[in-house]
Amino acid sequence: MTTTEFEAVPEVAADAVARGRDLIVMKFGGSSVADTDKIKGVARRLVAAREAGNRVVGVLSAMGDTTDELIRLAHEISDRPQPREYDMLLSVGERISNALCAMAITDLGYEAISFTGSQAGIVTDTVHGKAKIAEVRAARINEALDQERIVLVAGFQGVSADSHDVTTLGRGGSDTTAVALAAALGAQACEIYTDVEGVFTADPRIVPNARRLAAVTYEEMLELAASGAKVLQLRSVEFARNHDVRLHVRSTFSQAEGTWIVDEEDEVLEKAIISGVAHTAVEPLYRVREIDAATLFQRLADANVNVDTILQVSTDEIVFSAPAEDADACEDVLGQLGVEWSMREDLGKVSLVGAGMKSHPGIAAKTFATLEGIGVESKVISTSPIKIACHVRTEEVPRAVAALHDAFELEVA
Ligand code: ASP
Ligand code: MG
Repeated sequence: MTTTEFEAVPEVAADAVARGRDLIVMKFGGSSVADTDKIKGVARRLVAAREAGNRVVGVLSAMGDTTDELIRLAHEISDRPQPREYDMLLSVGERISNALCAMAITDLGYEAISFTGSQAGIVTDTVHGKAKIAEVRAARINEALDQERIVLVAGFQGVSADSHDVTTLGRGGSDTTAVALAAALGAQACEIYTDVEGVFTADPRIVPNARRLAAVTYEEMLELAASGAKVLQLRSVEFARNHDVRLHVRSTFSQAEGTWIVDEEDEVLEKAIISGVAHTAVEPLYRVREIDAATLFQRLADANVNVDTILQVSTDEIVFSAPAEDADACEDVLGQLGVEWSMREDLGKVSLVGAGMKSHPGIAAKTFATLEGIGVESKVISTSPIKIACHVRTEEVPRAVAALHDAFELEVA
């Protein structure tokens, strides 16, 4: 049996790498499986990979906006749906798409079997709606692969080791299912099929001449995903980095190469100074008075809030930002702490990301000069060794993205 303890041992099981050499994990997003014709198309693509000599594990998201629809139903019933039942409900979407795909593969003359996350051995903690994968017990998948089957795994879900209840992994969680399986099975690569051709230098809807990147590092992709690039769930990139899974983000609707996400040593990298400009239209900013940082951030962490920018403005004032989807949790925590606080929702964030920043001075200066040149004021600035992020007014976000893309000539390879 292949058991991989992800938190404890960051290695894959000893026999997994040898077994996985001809194995490929292929994940398809919701828009790639939006109707039954598209599911048949995905079935053909999985079969083609099989015919090319691979053993194949497919991970499908729920069809189209099924998950949104299920969430809508839950909120129609209840203001605060009970977390266990919420996960029972949401996990259904992926069962539908994966079962349908297994039927389509069978009709193409190949054997297939679909599994729920639980059946596939995806074991998680018990944080409903945001569960973390703790372990993958891949015995059942390996057995099915040994029987020459194409294996389909319902993404975005697992089972809690403690409560034995169904859990979900957070929005976009099928990416993490796919990466976790690739790691546990020692797959040669994890392919993420989506409705865009890869990772771009900026959102092409804002910057029409944005360019597809051939490759980026895990670090850059982590910053891009954390800064609003929606193509991959943040946690899946972390997982891929921690377990050395090469990721390939590419289009479901073409055969073209997409974007590889690899480590810094990988030969596919082009070593650009700046890789891209990511943005979030709205990223709430909180201002809290008279609390110590340790208490505040511990409480936010306990509530599973992903805090981003943090500024200690003065001894009695802290400013931080957190994603819009964590707003309810933030408000709860701040309310319970009984402190004086305020929140701004009229700001978004523009982030310039590139591994080359580490060794090239002047990037920050040019960023600020560019924003100043178009009359955009940054309200809060935060940096990492490979990122400069500016909170600007939401309505100025598109202009700021376009200006930075232009100033750093990101359209040119
Ligand atoms: N269906 C889930 C969602 O919409 C998971 C996923 O697509 O990755 O978030
Ligand atoms: Mg997604």
